[in-house]
Amino acid sequence: MTDLPSQVSSPVAGTLFIVSAPSGAGKTSLVKALLRHDQDLHLAVSCTTRAPRPGELDGVHYHFVDDARFEQMVVDGAFLEHATVFGHRYGTTVAAVRDVLARGRDLLLEIDWQGARQVRARWADAASVFILPPSLATLEDRLRGRNQDSEATIAGRMAQARDELAHYPEYDYLLVNDDFDQTLRGLLAILVAERLRRSRQQTRLGGLLAELTHPSSQVIG
Ligand code: 5GP
Repeated sequence: MTDLPSQVSSPVAGTLFIVSAPSGAGKTSLVKALLRHDQDLHLAVSCTTRAPRPGELDGVHYHFVDDARFEQMVVDGAFLEHATVFGHRYGTTVAAVRDVLARGRDLLLEIDWQGARQVRARWADAASVFILPPSLATLEDRLRGRNQDSEATIAGRMAQARDELAHYPEYDYLLVNDDFDQTLRGLLAILVAERLRRSRQQTRLGGLLAELTHPSSQVIG
């Protein structure tokens, strides 16, 4: 692929955040609240082959595409990352990431561990967060509480959750979602800290830093 976001020519590129969690850890509600609290953060709209759920809009929640279209996009190199999750294909396009970052805006990817791994390999500067449930029992309660699935389905979802959980060591930050507000504060703190990293500040504050560290070049009086 020749068109990676790291090759964006903009002098100020935004920060790429990745958030992953097993199903039932509360990730979607946290991300919604995070976007409400932080107007500078944008959520990337992924492509998926799964059918829209009630209330989901094409182009807003996902770009809903069929298998043939998804496969063509893979062949065309359109994806920064893509993976199969729960039997459906999901992917983040290079275009969705590049355009936002090139404008100096920050972007959040709500993707699974497979996608997170691919993004990190291609965009080393990405900051990644893994959200943990406080216990397996809580996770199971949450999975039971939100739908009327059969025991077999619950067991399957728990097995998938444990698979996802095994990948926590690949992430920069870990948050335990015991208390929603506290977890949200943790997420906001991560955003602030990552934005203040010296590497990012050096790009943003180039003029100020030059002025402060080379005072002799300034006109005095
Ligand atoms: P859902 O279908 O419930 O919206 O999402 C199911 C899973 O797919 C979640 O774990 C979500 O993070 C993951 N997912 C959503 N979009 C993407 C994507 O673009 N890439 C990858 N790798 N995973 C995604």
